[in-house]
Amino acid sequence: MNTYLKKDLLQIENLLEIIKKQGTAYINSLPERSTTAKEFIISDNVILPENGCGAEKALEVFNKRFEPIMVSSSGPRYWGFVTGGATPASTAGDWLTSIYDQNTQNVKGQGGISAVIEFETIKLLLDLLRLPDRFLGGFVTGATMSNFTCLGVARQWLGREKGVDIAKGGVSIPMKIFTATPHSSSLKALSMLGLGSGNIIKIKTEEGNREALSIQDFENKISELKGEPFILISSGGTVNTVDFDDFTEIKKLKEKYNFWWHIDAAFGGFAACSESHKHLLKDWEFADSITVDCHKWLNVPYESAVYLVKEEHKLLQMETFQNSNAPYLGDPLENFSYSNFLPENSRRMRALPAWFSLMAYGKKGYEEIISNSISLSQQFGDFIDQSENFKLLAPVRLNTVCFTLKNIEDQDKVDLFLEKLNKTGKVFMTPTFYNQYKGIRAAFVNWMTNEKDVQMVSELMQETIKELKK
Ligand SMILES: *Cc1c(COP(=O)(O)O)cnc(C)c1O
Repeated sequence: MNTYLKKDLLQIENLLEIIKKQGTAYINSLPERSTTAKEFIISDNVILPENGCGAEKALEVFNKRFEPIMVSSSGPRYWGFVTGGATPASTAGDWLTSIYDQNTQNVKGQGGISAVIEFETIKLLLDLLRLPDRFLGGFVTGATMSNFTCLGVARQWLGREKGVDIAKGGVSIPMKIFTATPHSSSLKALSMLGLGSGNIIKIKTEEGNREALSIQDFENKISELKGEPFILISSGGTVNTVDFDDFTEIKKLKEKYNFWWHIDAAFGGFAACSESHKHLLKDWEFADSITVDCHKWLNVPYESAVYLVKEEHKLLQMETFQNSNAPYLGDPLENFSYSNFLPENSRRMRALPAWFSLMAYGKKGYEEIISNSISLSQQFGDFIDQSENFKLLAPVRLNTVCFTLKNIEDQDKVDLFLEKLNKTGKVFMTPTFYNQYKGIRAAFVNWMTNEKDVQMVSELMQETIKELKK
């Protein structure tokens, strides 16, 4: 055995101890640590060392070069994109995922049983999201891959409806895909699936500053198809204004027309945990497939998301992702293997961090996280609404505030304002473009964020705008 390997194995306890200390210090520093990288380093002469230096020395190099510029993206004031954090229990589960290093495939033996944990975690999540257990689910790396998985099964379904097996024969027929305000990742999934991101049929949005699809326009477009089956990609929370399609009306249309109904509820799905907001998801359980991200509002480390596909579609899903060439044998759930149900073959025990967090904090814990984010976004939205310098670009519907500078003449200063604000390192938000305006988004997703953070950022924004006006 290599000397460094041998040494590291002998001192594994010491190594984990060092990492534990460093990890504790990092987590405790999150509220103060900068949200923005102060400098960028470019590595242009990286050379693979001939003999290496052992893990402890490698850590020294990491600490010298990279540690100081790690941003607190899992901290309380990183409001860009839709970024969650990692609860203590999920971090514990994540560490153990690496330590146990399972290749998670089967439920019944064949070398491992870690998929049992994944099955269980899906059940816990369905419970949290108030969904029936008619959904089969699994973990993928993010909502992008979940959309890909769900739309892959949708593609197989649509082929079947038209008499072709797309998994076997490739995409040989035109397919109709409807959507109003899709997330970019759904379009990317369509590209990867050979369906073409440019082939979507855009449904108009409801009138009055909305991103939700117009039911009327949708039905008009359906009737033009004269009974041809199609796919609908609907939104359970758009990223700019967190608008939700009307699932009750879509459910009624699904009773009349033949289509696959997919919902991208990457973060909006967690509205199910809120008494005051769960109505946004009413009837979503009638969808064929649903995307939910766990590394956002569930606050578990990256890479974690689930696909939820109705169990009645298990054969279609198996046809889409079947890995073995063995002739198909009976019920796909009999000798279940995840490698026949999703894109990856070998995969880590991705469910464990979520399992830990769900067990550790339960329904109540998550209801509190969700309602805290919702009330903080309202607090921040009120600040924007009452400010003389800013204005809302859309009402605060859930956990995101989309706003801009108040005076139209200041449109060209939006980028500069955001740059100055982010440069403080005390908060991070992301730019957007909505309704003809340059805007800024602040998303409340992190379990640590509290009212003082919102207060502090509000003051910081006032100072930043003052400086800008000088
Ligand atoms: C974040 C997001 C995605 C993409 O998720 P990743 O986890 O980054 O792959 C898809 N849809 C919606 C609505 C999102 O918010």
